[in-house]
Amino acid sequence: MTDTQFTPRVFSGIKPSGGLTLGNYLGAIKRWCDMQGPAFETVFCVVDLHAITVWQDPADLRAGTREIAAGMLASGIDPTRSVLFNQSQVHEHAELAWIFNCVARVGWMNRMTQFKDKAGSNAEKASLGLYAYPSLMAADILLYHGTHVPVGEDQKQHVELTRDIAAKFNHDYKVDFFPMTEPVIEGPATRVMNLRDGTKKMSKSGESDMERINMLDDADTIAKKFKKARTDPAPLPETLDGLKDRPEARNLVDIFAALSDSTPDKVIAEYSGAGWGQFKPALADLAVDKLAPISTEMRRLLDDPAEIDRILRDGAEKARAIAAPILAKTYEIVGLLR
Ligand code: ATP
Ligand code: MG
Repeated sequence: MTDTQFTPRVFSGIKPSGGLTLGNYLGAIKRWCDMQGPAFETVFCVVDLHAITVWQDPADLRAGTREIAAGMLASGIDPTRSVLFNQSQVHEHAELAWIFNCVARVGWMNRMTQFKDKAGSNAEKASLGLYAYPSLMAADILLYHGTHVPVGEDQKQHVELTRDIAAKFNHDYKVDFFPMTEPVIEGPATRVMNLRDGTKKMSKSGESDMERINMLDDADTIAKKFKKARTDPAPLPETLDGLKDRPEARNLVDIFAALSDSTPDKVIAEYSGAGWGQFKPALADLAVDKLAPISTEMRRLLDDPAEIDRILRDGAEKARAIAAPILAKTYEIVGLLR
């Protein structure tokens, strides 16, 4: 069986581990919206079971789940064209993850850089769930026979592990049941960097609010954060090559390109020679222009949590219609008596 025998299906998700950031929007949600259409079936998930791999206050988790869903909807994820739900409503995710815990090897998990980053120097005290996270993520994707996974650069290693798990399962059980998933990491903003430190990525769970743009930030806050963003004193160069060793400058150019549906080359061509006093306000105006309609719509949606819950419940039903037969077949392949 070749990959072409699988229905082209996109799967991707975001954890409700904090408010949505510009990194989540440009690296993930905006690109998901572009993939909705005839070429793919699209399945998008608020991955709440991943969020609890680090401590989440229960009330915050519920609110955060609705906020991520509202962000996806406000950005253009259309629940009549995509399946949109939260992970814990489809119990098959956790069940397939257990099977994959028994397929994946400890050595594979030990190579995952996200665990090292998130567990930090105190890995002994990290939850077992944080360590096993990549196996649940493989289950999320493969439960839908996901063929394409649009993610930011930081998730590349996890999608590669998903392929390793699929390949080992297929090999061990002598089947061609799970597809070889393709990571889709494209565009100018696959790794939006922290505004205070150009060597770290922007994250919703990062320490300082000044290091990220939140989707719900108002215009003044967005302008202030870009104004205070760390840069070097040099003006913008004539070509992109001139940004090679200037990560903070490169980041702001990439963000500008992604927000304006342009390319970093074109942005440099337009702003070559400009100082930060010119470029940063232009970037802030552009960001406010693009984000304000989304945050306004997010607030409107969040005023009616029951409607968000209804959308997620409907989505979960559609998700289960795809997932349940795939899990049942997996159990049969493994030899679990039904
Ligand atoms: P956390 O800090 O809790 O890990 P996060 O901001 O990294 O939060 P995730 O839920 O882990 O968000 O990731 C959701 C999606 O957003 C993934 O596809 C991920 O690759 C993408 N993403 C996250 N941060 C960035 C970023 N800085 N640039 C581009 N894409 C990003
Ligand atoms: Mg993350």
